[in-house]
Amino acid sequence: MVRLKVVVALYPFKAIEGGDLSLEKGAEYEVLDDSQEHWWKVQDTNGSIGYIPSNYVKEKELLGLQKYEWYVGDMSRQRAESLLKQEEKEGCFVVRNSSTKGFYTLSLYTKVPHAHVKHYHIKQNSRGDFFLSEKHCCSTIPELINYHRHNSGGLASRLKTSPCDRPVPPTAGLSHDKWEIDPAELMLLEELGSGQFGVVRRGKWRGCIDTAVKMMKEGTMSEDDFIEEAKVMTKLQHGNLVQLYGVCSKHRPIYIVTEYMKHGSLLNYLRRHENTLGGNVGLLLDMCIQVCKGMAYLERHNYIHRDLAARNCLVGSENVVKVADFGLARYVLDDQYTSSGGTKFPIKWAPPEVLNYTRFSSKSDIWAYGVLMWEVFTCGKMPYGRLKNTEVVERVQRGIILEKPKACYKEVYDVMQQCWAHCPEDRPSFRILKEQLTIVAQSIAD
Ligand code: ADP
Repeated sequence: MVRLKVVVALYPFKAIEGGDLSLEKGAEYEVLDDSQEHWWKVQDTNGSIGYIPSNYVKEKELLGLQKYEWYVGDMSRQRAESLLKQEEKEGCFVVRNSSTKGFYTLSLYTKVPHAHVKHYHIKQNSRGDFFLSEKHCCSTIPELINYHRHNSGGLASRLKTSPCDRPVPPTAGLSHDKWEIDPAELMLLEELGSGQFGVVRRGKWRGCIDTAVKMMKEGTMSEDDFIEEAKVMTKLQHGNLVQLYGVCSKHRPIYIVTEYMKHGSLLNYLRRHENTLGGNVGLLLDMCIQVCKGMAYLERHNYIHRDLAARNCLVGSENVVKVADFGLARYVLDDQYTSSGGTKFPIKWAPPEVLNYTRFSSKSDIWAYGVLMWEVFTCGKMPYGRLKNTEVVERVQRGIILEKPKACYKEVYDVMQQCWAHCPEDRPSFRILKEQLTIVAQSIAD
């Protein structure tokens, strides 16, 4: 007998396109076809059938803690702190995955004696029961949470509420099999900035989904090749990559439509918030780890970024950092940007083999990532200061690298130095970097 797969909706989804099906948070759906990675065909309890984003549901049997409002999964200590501080409610709490795999941490906001967030490891005794204070053990985490809703039992406060209205993740494309977007359905709003390719504006798709719309200056990119590639790029999906929703390619200029990130580029964010971020090594490291996770996903999919730098990462709500503009560099037509001798070429992020032979790889992304870490830990300083490009090239060839930023621990600088190994083969992978940085973050937190 074929076993039916039943999933539960983690987020609500509003079907706008024909063929899609709306999801109600917490409701169950039967999966009819999961052969496509990002859009599954499901049936609801009324018998309606349609496509839904697969990242909005979770298999019922594997649901675990995810059905609880208070469980936030892989959220770092720093992001949990800023989320709870934003809410400013006594007893507001979340449970998150601890940086030690398989364990959980309770993060709790209290105003006593002053506003701060406390973190408690949820421990287990020899019988496997969970406890926060040894006096009271429960056989499951939800039972333990419920107990502490009524009894502070040694915690700084009773557990009261959890942050609501948490952001819903983007979908891979705006509907199943949709990457061509009708510009008539896209309302263009204020300008967000402008860059290499032209102006970026905020947009609303069909009046409800926030997007960023990059209007490509004509003649700046090989459009046909890019449009072909956009089909692949909409399928790349990760919590630390800016989601590509699709393109409007039937008119000129073409539009690239992506997820909207409300705090704009990481570089400007670092510069604007230097005063508050500068001393917070944990938060800076967390930003680096988030970028590293996005890059590890690209590396796993054999996808090379080619222009990784703080200016090409964006910051969203809850201090989420995501990598943007991956792979775009291949379609730029401007020689000044594409040739290593050009004035717009990102020399300061380039390793020797790119400077010498324009040889891009995941390992050249690693070098650029080391420079990005340096940008983060200097809160957005220009690498190599005012040195001219020719002077930078000469230094890099001679093996002279960037100095340790003041706010940076030796362990963190060690990681940067590994990224700047002269031979690409000697540089670690993003997967390994992620592990190393997580260990450093743990040692800071303890
Ligand atoms: P280009 O790739 O053409 O150089 P950018 O991607 O750097 O352009 O975008 C220019 C500016 O527009 C960014 O610095 C940022 O402030 C804003 N911007 C770009 N994409 C988004 C987005 N998805 N959400 C919010 N703001 C964005």
